[in-house]
Amino acid sequence: MEKYVPDMYQKTVYDVNYKKLLNQGIKCIMFDLDNTLVPPNVKEPTDKVIELFNDLKRMGFRVIIFSNSPKRRLKPFKDKLEVDCSASSRKPNKKKFLKVLSDYNYTITEVAIIGDQIMTDVLGGNKVGILTVLVNPVSKKDFFLTKFNRLLEKIIIRRLSRKSLFIKGKYYE
Ligand SMILES: [Mg+2]
Repeated sequence: MEKYVPDMYQKTVYDVNYKKLLNQGIKCIMFDLDNTLVPPNVKEPTDKVIELFNDLKRMGFRVIIFSNSPKRRLKPFKDKLEVDCSASSRKPNKKKFLKVLSDYNYTITEVAIIGDQIMTDVLGGNKVGILTVLVNPVSKKDFFLTKFNRLLEKIIIRRLSRKSLFIKGKYYE
């Protein structure tokens, strides 16, 4: 069950303690897009996201958008945020996670993933061994396939909370 438990859990991407990540040796942050940065129906980054990414770059992080969505969905984010993107990443599959690590030459201790889904972002990141940060989804809208994942997620969260491994709404870093 531990593979479903995030290393950190915060309300939103704006609540994450990035200084702590930096001090832990994290150099690269992979962000999920849909419902982590913006709702699935929002087609461009908001000013708040632009500001966050500028701050993170200023702190010295490499920021990568790592999404299961296709290239055409990521394009306006790539352009406006001036970041690298990995599209159709097929999380929780390990393959594209490992490709990012090898392409940019990072070890598992230098990379974090931040996302809103246990079944994709957290599970994938934990399988690879990188730092995983869960945030609450920014909207209630979900893609069709995500709805299925949310159902599984609910079951997993129920099991985790029974074992006191993870409790929804109880934030930690
Ligand atoms: Mg998501």
